[in-house]
Formats: sequence, C-alpha cells, structure tokens
Amino acid sequence: MTRDTVPGVRCAVCGYVAALVRPRCPACRGRVEPAEFGPAGTVWSATVVHVSLPGRKAPYALAYVDLDAGPRVLAQPAGNTPLRVGQRVRIVNVTAEDEIRVQRVRPAGGADSRGGDRPLPPAESAPDSEHAGT
Ligand SMILES: [Zn+2]
Repeated sequence: MTRDTVPGVRCAVCGYVAALVRPRCPACRGRVEPAEFGPAGTVWSATVVHVSLPGRKAPYALAYVDLDAGPRVLAQPAGNTPLRVGQRVRIVNVTAEDEIRVQRVRPAGGADSRGGDRPLPPAESAPDSEHAGT
C-alpha cells in the first residue's frame, strides 16, 4: 500500500511539526496530535551523492523538501532525476519503509507528473490543515 502524504505530529502547544510519530513535542515536550503532511512541497536543498552506501549505489539524487504547512523531509527524486532548489514537488508512493527517513518526490505540475507510476489512493483526510507555526 502506498500513499502520498507523510505521517507525523503537530504540537498542540507550540505548533512544531515533525515527520516522525513521537509521543511528545521534540521542541517543547507538549502534547502532540497526529498529522499528515504533503503531498506538495518545495525543494529547500538538493544534491547528487557520488559515494555508494550499502543498498544505495552512486550516483543518486537527494533533496530536502519543505512540505507545505509541514516539516522539512529528506527525499529521493523518483527516477533519480536531480531536483533544483525552489522546485515544486509532490510526495509519491510513500511506503512503510520510506516513512522512516527518505520520502520519494517528483516534480509537481505538468503532464509528466502523472507519468508512469500507478495511480495514488485518495489522501487520508487531515483533520486540521492550518499551520500554527507561523
Ligand atoms: Zn511544542
């Protein structure tokens, strides 16, 4: 099963958002509520890594993506196509193993954004999309 949002928490006290499910706010230790972030975001930083790691053969592209009204997440472009800073992207095909550290993204908009991947299931409804952190 895949989806196009990233699970995490939003602090009910200070508004901090995190892409990890934690029992307390990492910033203020306040009460947190479950949240879903994405699917849209903006590339904050991008690079191509030229050093292979176990299970990851170089070269491969990585980026940090600021999810809209959500946290910054580490992401790997679908198709291993390098991204550029400021580019709009979408989270795609989140799987259980991806939820740990690395999200998959692809450029947002345009005909190719609907390309070869399987259709995504409907996003689970986020109970509250307002961003208390700004
Ligand atoms: Zn907090």
